Amino acid sequence: MTLHIVDHPLAQHLLTRLRDVETPPPVFRTLAKRLTIALVIEAARELPSIEVEVETPLQKAPGRLISPDLVAVPILRAGLGMLEAVTELFPEVTVGYVGLERDDTTLRPTSYYEKMPALEGRHVLLLDPMLATGGSAAGATARIAERNPAGIVFVCVVAAPEGVRRMEAEHPEVPVFTAALDRGLNDKGYILPGLGDFGDRLFGTGPDSGLPPLTRRPG
Ligand code: URA
Repeated sequence: MTLHIVDHPLAQHLLTRLRDVETPPPVFRTLAKRLTIALVIEAARELPSIEVEVETPLQKAPGRLISPDLVAVPILRAGLGMLEAVTELFPEVTVGYVGLERDDTTLRPTSYYEKMPALEGRHVLLLDPMLATGGSAAGATARIAERNPAGIVFVCVVAAPEGVRRMEAEHPEVPVFTAALDRGLNDKGYILPGLGDFGDRLFGTGPDSGLPPLTRRPG
């Protein structure tokens, strides 16, 4: 598996602002989208393009177009924060969804929601911002791979070594694009230093929701 760390200064600037605990959800959403654009621009190197010829106002010009068979699959729910970047860059993209949770008996990721378009022969951008243990990423990749796509590229905002190792072990053919490879996981499975719970920060849920004082419940 190839790990691509996108160290472009703009990507690192956006990541740093995302990490900042003072960044409230509305700003977090905008930053997440902008950073995903930077990541997907790099990840698009893995997508096939076809040679075409177009007419400029003056004469014919050779060009390249990214092949139109692209499918984006955000892993629910945090992956939704990366989706709009892809639909903006590729308006024709088809979108599938997968939601995974850990089965408390088998400890394996099981799907609680799945809606996929036909994937055979198509190129999939799998989106999940935090590659932590790798359970969801590896589980979603396996479910997608069963449908025989031409290729899968995994895009995340922050990766932990544990998740990278798991993807390497279970899906060595899938390249991973990320803005950072962090130190590791804490005992609750959060990435350190990370940026906290991406879904909570995106949607304003969690203990410090960032709601203005008047709308907080008393006590
Ligand atoms: N999911 C998150 O949202 N944050 C982490 O640090 C790990 C998993």
